[in-house]
Amino acid sequence: MDFLRPTTWAEALAAKADRPEAVPIQGGTDVMVELNFDLHRPAALLDLNRVAELAEWTCEEDGRLRVGAGVPYVRLIAELGNRLPGLAQAARTVGSPQIRNRGTVGGNLGAASPAGDSHPPLLAGDAVIEVESAARGVRMIPAAEFYLGVKRSALEPDELIRAFRMSPATGPQYFSKVGTRNAMVIAVCSFAIALHPVERRVGTGIGSAAPTPRRALAAEEFLAAELDWDARLDPAVLARFGELAAAAASPIDDVRGTADYRRHAIGVMARRTLTWAWNEFRSGHFERRAG
Ligand SMILES: Cc1cc2nc3c(=O)[nH]c(=O)nc-3n(C[C@H](O)[C@H](O)[C@H](O)COP(=O)(O)OP(=O)(O)OC[C@H]3O[C@@H](n4cnc5c(N)ncnc54)[C@H](O)[C@@H]3O)c2cc1C
Repeated sequence: MDFLRPTTWAEALAAKADRPEAVPIQGGTDVMVELNFDLHRPAALLDLNRVAELAEWTCEEDGRLRVGAGVPYVRLIAELGNRLPGLAQAARTVGSPQIRNRGTVGGNLGAASPAGDSHPPLLAGDAVIEVESAARGVRMIPAAEFYLGVKRSALEPDELIRAFRMSPATGPQYFSKVGTRNAMVIAVCSFAIALHPVERRVGTGIGSAAPTPRRALAAEEFLAAELDWDARLDPAVLARFGELAAAAASPIDDVRGTADYRRHAIGVMARRTLTWAWNEFRSGHFERRAG
């Protein structure tokens, strides 16, 4: 097996163009499991750890954050927890401290597992994935168009993930995950919510309850039409939101849970996260925290 070690982004793109079959490795928390279990023997590994650009995040001129694919969860939590609270909550549930030290959102996107914890908050927060190839340059892919199937994404063989872009939260964001225990667990299912008060809109993301992470679009449209932003949360609106979120899932039975349980749990988490977010919004706590 060849081990390719570019030191710049340009070198990394050139290496991927030259060897599209080379498997990128960042934190290695997915790649090394596959190698150790002999599930996969790639002809080449493309180690991205020396590419300094990938480990940086910046605030862009349009106000959005551009977070390099190689920024590990532990830094996302410490450095961006206030600005990306939903994603940081999800990051806190990933694996163990060791996994969060090494694992990255870039790797989560690269693996494109329906159970990956970063996907629901990326969807709820309207993230855009920045990918690049030597031949065709940069492509900006909205998160909702990135996931194509079970462990399949819109990434082409000669492309690498450079970063994701996301606006800092303008309202409360929450993530909820059901697992068979509290830590070191793959989601049975998960749900993320992001309030966008300026646009009077609510974003959602469903995890591990469909072939891909997905938004609960009908539930979002329902809230856009029915939510009174100046009043207490109407129990009937809350209940209908839960029903529509559950209906957006198309789960399967597997070792972690049944389809019925997952659908039910999505409805419960949708109601819970909306209640948490709404209470935070109405109390003015979010504005005080955001400064
Ligand atoms: C014990 C354990 C517990 C875990 N718990 C969780 C959990 O709770 N929640 C969860 O979501 N995940 C979990 N995972 C899975 C894994 O930690 C995450 O998916 C993590 O985000 C992967 O990041 P990484 O940087 O380690 O990726 P890597 O293993 O380096 O790569 C993962 C995939 O992405 C590709 N890739 C990496 N970087 C790029 C790039 N820049 N461009 C293109 N492709 C790229 C790789 O080729 C590979 O296909 C766990 C793993 C282990 C071993």
